[in-house]
Amino acid sequence: MTFPKLKKSLGQNFLKDEFYVSKIVESFNLKETDTVLEIGPGGGALTKRISGKVKKLYAVEIDQRLIENLENKITDDDFVLINEDFLKFDLVANIAEDNIKIVGNLPYHVTSPIIFKVMELASEVNKDKLKIQSLTIMIQKEVAERIVAKVNTKAYGVISVFTRFFCEPEILFDIPPEAFFPKPKIVSSIIRFNFSVGNGNLQKVEDMSFFRKVVKTTFLNRRKMLRNTLKPFIEPELVKSVEITKRPENLSVDDFINLSNEIFLK
Ligand code: SAM
Repeated sequence: MTFPKLKKSLGQNFLKDEFYVSKIVESFNLKETDTVLEIGPGGGALTKRISGKVKKLYAVEIDQRLIENLENKITDDDFVLINEDFLKFDLVANIAEDNIKIVGNLPYHVTSPIIFKVMELASEVNKDKLKIQSLTIMIQKEVAERIVAKVNTKAYGVISVFTRFFCEPEILFDIPPEAFFPKPKIVSSIIRFNFSVGNGNLQKVEDMSFFRKVVKTTFLNRRKMLRNTLKPFIEPELVKSVEITKRPENLSVDDFINLSNEIFLK
């Protein structure tokens, strides 16, 4: 089989440096008893190091052209390959095991929707259906920094608030462009989201979609004070939970929860 031409549109930068492949797989902290789901196995660099060492490995790859090669390369009984878009893949219906670890070297163009999908699934609401222990992934360094950014910093934004709502993510280490083929223009980071310590934030929010709307709307104009950006929701002078002279980057997750609850209940 001749290996297909890699597609930039699918974020196909494959790991070629064995040192980093080992380091990344080590960072997944896998045990023999684990069920693992890999997003985007690609040429199988990470997959072949994981398969055979865990109880079960699911891998979801969108590109049909890569499937045959993966099937030939990885023949362990614990391996289940699924040719589907991860964003459309129904984890609850297709994964029988509980307490899974999700890993992968993510395609850059769909990093945020993938993270949001996993966080939603890992949230308290869905815990009865499928328990996700952690998500350890390689993403663009700049996005990883925005995710872990602290309140009152320039990098703090919608993605920092939403991820902090569900867990405390941590950046583990960086990977240089030289570790990939083709070589990307950006530096990547491994970031871990640990969902095993549940935070009670979901219980605190009156209406989740309204909370999201308030966070997104206020950050659309991140330089403007709440006094201006809250107008579509409420007469800003009526707000009591936060100071309306603040900007969205000055509000912690708790502030956003209190603010959205206050407006929602008025
Ligand atoms: N894991 C391999 C590695 O580290 O060398 C490949 C990583 S590459 C950055 C991303 C992989 O995700 C590609 O194989 C690409 O085809 C696949 N991919 C892109 N979009 C996807 C999606 N929506 N669902 C599943 N896989 C996807």
